[in-house]
Amino acid sequence: MQMWKRGVCSTAVVVLVVVALAACSARGGAGAPAATGTPAVNVSAAPSGGAGMAGGAAPPATVGPAGEAPGTGDGAARMPQPAGAAASEAAAGGGSAAAAQAAATVEPAAAGTAGPAATAARAAEPPAPTAAPAAAAAQASSPVRASGKLVMLDPGHQRRGNSEPEPVGPDTRETKAKVSSGTTGVSTKKPEYVLNLEVSLLLRDELRRRGFEVAMTRETHDVDLSNKQRAEMSNEAGAALTVRIHADGDSSASTRGFSVLYPSISVAATKPIAAESKEAASFMLAGLQAATGQKGRGLSAREDLSGFNWSKVPVILAEIGFMTNPEEDERMSEADYQQQLVRGMADGIERFLADR
Ligand SMILES: [Zn+2]
Repeated sequence: MQMWKRGVCSTAVVVLVVVALAACSARGGAGAPAATGTPAVNVSAAPSGGAGMAGGAAPPATVGPAGEAPGTGDGAARMPQPAGAAASEAAAGGGSAAAAQAAATVEPAAAGTAGPAATAARAAEPPAPTAAPAAAAAQASSPVRASGKLVMLDPGHQRRGNSEPEPVGPDTRETKAKVSSGTTGVSTKKPEYVLNLEVSLLLRDELRRRGFEVAMTRETHDVDLSNKQRAEMSNEAGAALTVRIHADGDSSASTRGFSVLYPSISVAATKPIAAESKEAASFMLAGLQAATGQKGRGLSAREDLSGFNWSKVPVILAEIGFMTNPEEDERMSEADYQQQLVRGMADGIERFLADR
């Protein structure tokens, strides 16, 4: 597309010298593709191969929300990010600027041009949430690059969801809401994002007590961080492990129990981190089981979570229980039980990191 622009400029020089010069220098000044407006960048950037992601060739990456959960067959249906939450949150509205809208609509098109739209998506991403990268950096609580043992905690959701679309991963043209607003406690009436942060802060403190370096994607509810951005924060911080903290929701009030999700090996982008992530998930599940004396719902491999698919470091997601189950909802807000959960998760994390 750059050739095309030069062509236009050269022709113009002959006809309207002054105007054309101004135009060309303006273009030239902008220089780098990054500044030349996202649409053009996206179209040709896509085929070049995705930012270091494995494979590259548009794999099936059938991002159908049908998780291949080994033991927990239905885990997939009630996880936090899937379409249900996104849809319900659409009504709540993210209240975003027109510019952000424009940028957002570009992304699906770019992704459609070929397989890995990673580069395109990256180029398109910055304009979307106003000053997103800077904001994201500021919101991360000093993600210190530790001795390879940095743990990034990602408390799921935020006060206001953002229903603008973003690619579910580098290998797919499918998009999902940037971040949904999560579920709500049927009994406590507590929003999930509040519980997630409560528990995450306790886990942060516990991990620090044990000598680990911990960074967080958010320490407040008033952020605007997409799931992709959260993954990129971990990538940039060089985290040894990302732990996403969520609570579950289901249409049945009797559904209960924690589960631990990890990225599916069937997605090209997460193939490099799948085995390690699964190992971390197993440790965390075992930790939760030991600390709470409950069996939980097991592990669940997922291919449909943006926060997994954009990650280049091992990543797991703990669904600590169901806020749609009155009893479990209440329990998850009790200090004693929160400490059990935290101890279990910290044990799992510690065991995983001990092997690194
Ligand atoms: Zn959630």
